[in-house]
Formats: sequence, structure tokens, C-alpha cells
Amino acid sequence: MEENIKKYFEYLKISRLATIDELTGLKNKRAITENLRRELAIRTYRDVAVIFFDLDNFKIINDEYGHQAGDKLPAAIGKILKSSLRSYDIIGRYGGDEFVLILPDTDMSRVLNVAEILAQSIGHNALIHNEKEISISSSFGVASLKDNAAYIEKTLKIAGLEEIYEINNPARTDWQKIENIKFQISELLLQMADTALYKAKQTECNKCGFVSKDPHDFLKNRCSKCKSTELIKGRNKIVAFTS
Ligand SMILES: [Zn+2]
Repeated sequence: MEENIKKYFEYLKISRLATIDELTGLKNKRAITENLRRELAIRTYRDVAVIFFDLDNFKIINDEYGHQAGDKLPAAIGKILKSSLRSYDIIGRYGGDEFVLILPDTDMSRVLNVAEILAQSIGHNALIHNEKEISISSSFGVASLKDNAAYIEKTLKIAGLEEIYEINNPARTDWQKIENIKFQISELLLQMADTALYKAKQTECNKCGFVSKDPHDFLKNRCSKCKSTELIKGRNKIVAFTS
């Protein structure tokens, strides 16, 4: 009996580790994907928003201040996230300095607001490392089920999202197909938020229109193509997904 209990607790520990990111205590990539799937498997058509974000200067901080500072940062961000979000929001670290948030019953205007608040609190909570203050900024990509419904319907070739969620005739419904579509929606929504983040990270030259995500293309805040300093910097930005 005792052996069984021991095994049971061992099992609990292992299954917890399988879903938790050790550095931050947030959900890991696998758990995030599963949670989003579950949120979208629900049988009513309600909004779900996804935020994908990362730190603008993470690589520079790692290079300049070492990996110890680089390790401290995600943990500090994790604390900010936990204290800023609702208990039923799902918070995860996707890897490195990338974070994903799933906000049930949240529409586009509200999710933009949440991203704004998070951007500010991350910006205000500078990291102190070896008595030096390291300032942090972050960029956000957001997508929501309802706001991006037309794009989702077109991409997955479905007549209407509402029909996937509000089933009129259960007896004549191919449930396997519905489940499959819901799974595809969850993958797509994550991808859309990631695409929006990719856009947020791009720097654009106002003069010649050159666009790149690589900071080396804009060394010393200068466009490598036309030498202009009029840049729309790919940092500290919030971008909503548009097709
Ligand atoms: Zn240029």
C-alpha cells in the first residue's frame, strides 16, 4: 500500500514537471498548446485571445551581462505575469524569452489593453543585476478568435465559426470532423499571434521602406540601405494580427 502511495506521488511529481517550466514556474510549451486546445474545444462560441510576446533586448542582455542575468529575466517576467493576470488566464513560457498567454472570454480591444498594461509593467520593472540596472522592453503579437474569424474561416475552409461551435442538429453532426477543426483552430490562433509578434519585431526605414527583423541591418540606429536614421523601431510594440 505504502509503496503504491509513494508511486502515486512520484507520478504526480513527474506529470507536474512535464507541464511546468522550471525556471519560471509557468506552463511549458506543451501545456500551453494543450490548454489552448481545451479552451477551444468548449461547446459555445465565445472569444479567446492569445498573446505571444518576447523581450526586445534579451540577446543583448545575455551577451552583455552573462547568462546569469539571462536566467533571472524570465523568472522576473513570470512574477509580473502571475501578479497581473486573472486566475483563469493561462500563462506560459514558450521557450527562451518567449511567452504565451491565453485569455478566455477576452475580445480584441481588451487583449490590446492587457498587452499595453504588461508592456508598461515590464518596462517599469528594470532588472537589477550586480548592482546595475538593466532596462527591458517587450513586443507583443495578439490574435483573437472572433476578431480574426473571417481569416480563420477562409484559411480552414469552413463556412462559419459559429456553426462549428453552436451545433443545431447533433444527430447529423460529424463530431470527429468538428474536433479536428477545433484542433486546427487552436494551432492557427497560436500561429497568428506569433506572426503578429514577428511583425512587431520588424524595424522599418521610413525613408527607403527597408524592413528587417535583424538588428544588424540597423546598427547604430541607421538603415543599412540608405543610411537614414528615420526608423520605426521593432521594439516596444503591440501588433494585432491582420491577414
Ligand atoms: Zn533606408
